[in-house]
Amino acid sequence: MALTQSKVTDCKLLIGGKWVASESKEFVNVTNPSLGEVIARTPMCGRAEVNQAVEAAHHAFAEWSETPVVERARLMFRFKNLLDANYEDIARTVSREHGKTFAEAKASVQRGIEVVEFACGIPSLMMGESLENIARNVDCETQRHPLGVCAGITPFNFPAMVPLWMYPLALTCGNTFILKPSEKVPLASIQIAELLIEAGVPKGVFNIVHGGKEAVDALLEHPLVKAVSFVGSTPIAKYIYEKGTANGKRVQSAGGAKNHIIIMPDADMNQTRQALQASAFGCAGERCMAGSLAIPVGEAGDILMPQLAESTKAMKVGRTDIDGTPDMGPVITADHMNRVKSLIDKGAKEGAELLVDGRDVKVSDAPNGYFVGPTIFDHAKPQMSIVQEEIFGPVLSVVRVKTIEDAIQLGKDCPYGNGAVIFTNSGRAAREFKRHFNAGMIGINVGVPASMAWFPFTGWNASFFGDLHIQGREGVLFYTQQKMIMTRWFSGPAKDKFHDPVWKTKS
Ligand code: NAD
Repeated sequence: MALTQSKVTDCKLLIGGKWVASESKEFVNVTNPSLGEVIARTPMCGRAEVNQAVEAAHHAFAEWSETPVVERARLMFRFKNLLDANYEDIARTVSREHGKTFAEAKASVQRGIEVVEFACGIPSLMMGESLENIARNVDCETQRHPLGVCAGITPFNFPAMVPLWMYPLALTCGNTFILKPSEKVPLASIQIAELLIEAGVPKGVFNIVHGGKEAVDALLEHPLVKAVSFVGSTPIAKYIYEKGTANGKRVQSAGGAKNHIIIMPDADMNQTRQALQASAFGCAGERCMAGSLAIPVGEAGDILMPQLAESTKAMKVGRTDIDGTPDMGPVITADHMNRVKSLIDKGAKEGAELLVDGRDVKVSDAPNGYFVGPTIFDHAKPQMSIVQEEIFGPVLSVVRVKTIEDAIQLGKDCPYGNGAVIFTNSGRAAREFKRHFNAGMIGINVGVPASMAWFPFTGWNASFFGDLHIQGREGVLFYTQQKMIMTRWFSGPAKDKFHDPVWKTKS
């Protein structure tokens, strides 16, 4: 089921069960970031094409929402088997279009498959509640109903996983769906859609459109789109939330992040160093849960930093589109590489100590790839741009503080609130941290505390706009609306009969 990857293809739209070429004349190049070579082109759809997808999804909703929930679950079981069978092929596409190492790509596909596994349990997840006799002869129940057409708009950094956060649950809840993947990485979404078709998804239940702002605006403005799930940068997340809700839609909108890793002097330093390095530089730092800001407390910095600098300098940066085992691949585009490098320049100018400098990294068999080596700034100060901004590259800033209270205060001053981690052996420090740190996903001796499928992805502050988060039960609540049904059967002969001692004796 792997795409033909030898020539540049123009990505097609999936509308009403058919792959169709876009009529757009505008395209964005999809590149293999390891080589800087164009491998496909993404059409930038206009409103008319998006509207066709919405109409197809709306048309399919009538039948799909009446399909018994167990049949919807069975579609997911078949989909899950096909994902398992094609797991490595999908991961290869992710490595090729995004630049993740093969190990990282496989792990990300696995996280996506886990959402499908969760969605297989939809008959239980969608159950309502009931209570008898809430008043005399009155019973009450709640049911969960699908919303209609839902849309998902996704970022470049997890081409397979983030779309899978959304549509398996949306579909099994009885909705139809339109995915607008990132124009930078559409290939994994297309490959996975082929599997969903093979699993038997009815025509129009799942659709794909491509593009940027114009396509997204068309989704946000279309009256038949009932709910929008978004994952991407904070300014766009806020825009999607505001515009979507102003147009009467449900919106869950996850944004950017700056994730703090606090290291107490009593932490297991070797384990901490490994976890911190993986958190900061895994996926070339292009993760919304990347630990991009380390905060050693007291003497922790003096113990940790020399070892961390040494092991970081030993990391192997390389191409990820061929077999091999680099520790880190490229970043997504030439523009992004230049942005990351210019933020490193800025950090150095602002006076942070550049302990490991990744700006001049060279990959001999891929001279045109978009590589930035792992970079560490020590003795950064809270007001510096490398501490304030989401760099979204392999750059770790280190702010040393005296007490855990100072570390917690840094979190309070941060506008984001996705994840935060403490490394310690002290129960008291861990408890203080988990109660008071200003972020929605907390790790204790865990480098990347990203929620798995069964739990919601609970970003706070400027890392999330909306009420119900993506994944877990909150995902089910987001994609369904409740109906409360109150029933009264008047007391009459039948009731009298059951309570009539003479009738009881006779029967
Ligand atoms: P992005 O915001 O540039 O793009 C995300 C999506 O929005 C894409 O599909 C894109 O086509 C669309 N888009 C871009 N500009 C738009 C506009 N003006 N109007 C409407 N739509 C627009 O994000 P990105 O660079 O693809 O992804 C990286 C960002 O995503 C980082 O900030 C990262 O932290 C964030 N992210 C967050 C989470 C989370 O769960 N909080 C997860 C993954 C990534």
